[in-house]
Amino acid sequence: MSSVRRIAPIEVGPHYRALYVAPHFDDVALSCGGTVVREAEMGVAPLVVTVFAGDPTGPDLTPFARFQHARWGSDDALGERRQEDAAAMAALNADYLWLPFLDAIYRGDQYLSDDELFGPLKPDDHKLVGRLADDLLHLWRQTDGAVVSLPLALGNHVDHQLCRATGAPLRAAGAPLRYYEDVPYALTPGAIGPDDRWLDPELIDVTATMDRRLAAIACYASQLPTIFRHHGPHTQAVRAHAASLAPGAVPVGAAPGGRPCSGPAGSGIDTGTGRRGDAATGSGVDAGDIRYYERWWWPRV
Ligand SMILES: [Zn+2]
Repeated sequence: MSSVRRIAPIEVGPHYRALYVAPHFDDVALSCGGTVVREAEMGVAPLVVTVFAGDPTGPDLTPFARFQHARWGSDDALGERRQEDAAAMAALNADYLWLPFLDAIYRGDQYLSDDELFGPLKPDDHKLVGRLADDLLHLWRQTDGAVVSLPLALGNHVDHQLCRATGAPLRAAGAPLRYYEDVPYALTPGAIGPDDRWLDPELIDVTATMDRRLAAIACYASQLPTIFRHHGPHTQAVRAHAASLAPGAVPVGAAPGGRPCSGPAGSGIDTGTGRRGDAATGSGVDAGDIRYYERWWWPRV
């Protein structure tokens, strides 16, 4: 039986050495679940904090929210997503915490289409950044300097943008930060652009933990048809992308023109936790020895 627990904010303590911030229930498993499992095995005690896990109050959902629920095939969308998340966290071997912020589709009638959901933040949402940052900082201060993992907001989902925007106040308060590449958006060619020159990439070898990441992703059954509608079966899509990050592989998320990222060239890679500078360097991958990676981005000091 799993010892993984859903905890309350007051239970966050110094033994949690890594805080993973997920805008939605599935984002950490999808994007960086291999790293979570790896760190759990190393005794890091990861904690996954899902930000937009709140329960919409009131009887009226917008037509767009009802459309999303129909897409997910559920009358109890939130209840189902919470059950899925609990199962996924057990697969990742990570404790988890749900913050009560409302998903964009429940924040009034600000976001009424996919275009709006992946567009600029609406004016009423700008003030949310401070509230999110306050809550995350409060949690972080209960740890002993835990590393905070935020989404890069690839794909531009407004809830991901809000989480990424907490990076500035968190960093100003002294929290060590790193950013993960949001899946499924990272699967789209060109997703990684040259905009993040203030970040240095790091590859984490997740070959040994990829099966657990995939098992966690599979728990989000209500979401998978929507998430992977442009990418095919999730197992293949995630494996192909993770293998493409290997040194010498053709990067799935390469920027137009072939340069996959903006880090300094030539620093090489130390398999495991070592930092690397350029995803295009390396000597190629033996087809009989496929290795899987997750790519992280660290602010330069
Ligand atoms: Zn998300």
